[in-house]
Amino acid sequence: MTRSPAAPEVSAHVFRIPMRTRFRGQTLREGVLLHGPAGWGEFSPFPEYGPRECARWLACAREAAFEGWPEPVRDSVPVNTTVPAVDPVRAHDMVRRSGCGTAKVKVAERGQTFDDDVARVEAVRDALGPSGRLRIDVNGAWEVDEAVRRLNRLGRFDLEYAEQPCATLEELAAVRRACDVPIAADESIRRAEDPLRVKAAEAADIAVVKVQPLGGVRAALRVVEACGLPAVVSSAVETSVGLAAGLALAAALPSLPYACGLGTMSLLSGDVVDDSLVPVDGWLAVRRPTVNYQHLSSYEIESPQWLSRMQEASR
Ligand SMILES: [Mg+2]
Repeated sequence: MTRSPAAPEVSAHVFRIPMRTRFRGQTLREGVLLHGPAGWGEFSPFPEYGPRECARWLACAREAAFEGWPEPVRDSVPVNTTVPAVDPVRAHDMVRRSGCGTAKVKVAERGQTFDDDVARVEAVRDALGPSGRLRIDVNGAWEVDEAVRRLNRLGRFDLEYAEQPCATLEELAAVRRACDVPIAADESIRRAEDPLRVKAAEAADIAVVKVQPLGGVRAALRVVEACGLPAVVSSAVETSVGLAAGLALAAALPSLPYACGLGTMSLLSGDVVDDSLVPVDGWLAVRRPTVNYQHLSSYEIESPQWLSRMQEASR
């Protein structure tokens, strides 16, 4: 723990929590938890981000620790369950157990075929029933022609949208012109200016937004408003401290037509709060859990690297 002598109420704690499943090639989730007069904030940029990008992530943590968030306009937020590239029986079972009315199905996994994707999507549609909402996430893996062909084939499962079917904005725009399935941009949005680029390129119908890379709840609200696309708030696989900021954004958006990707606590093997932000029957109640120092101490590490990363981001 590091205390600043000038502001004794402020402290920073570096954490490292093992992940249950590999995510973005990582098996550990690390970051810094900041405690300030307004509460706890999380600074947990992914390893590849440099100081310029990290500055936005830090602004999000500082907003949480020093300012707090705007008033919510709703008291609970719908979240989706995420189905990884598992076999159809398991996919069906995962959706039924989740209790969620919206499922996001991962497709285009390396080493699998498109028939595997179709079987998984079919099983998930069956588990959800006709009124459930089903979206797929391609993580940018398809070429334009392939994407159009495949989305047309998956159309019979009534897709709510396809997340990042191709890698670039130009490709997304081409797919969007050629097929009826709505397109969501996720990987194309990593910085605050990106949603406006997505909109200008007519590359997507929906913007997937994360509160840390956009610089906090207020900054993200401004970006979403300027962009004009419906937003799906997603996590960066944070602890409940970071998730609470995403939840505050989802709670404050004037309209929220889609379930959010904030049900990610299950990806981490532990948490730093008592009352984790875990959805119940597909809903997250809007609240802000507080850190339990005992839990925090089991994940706290000494890491001068993280503290200097935070200092560099603040310049
Ligand atoms: Mg995605």
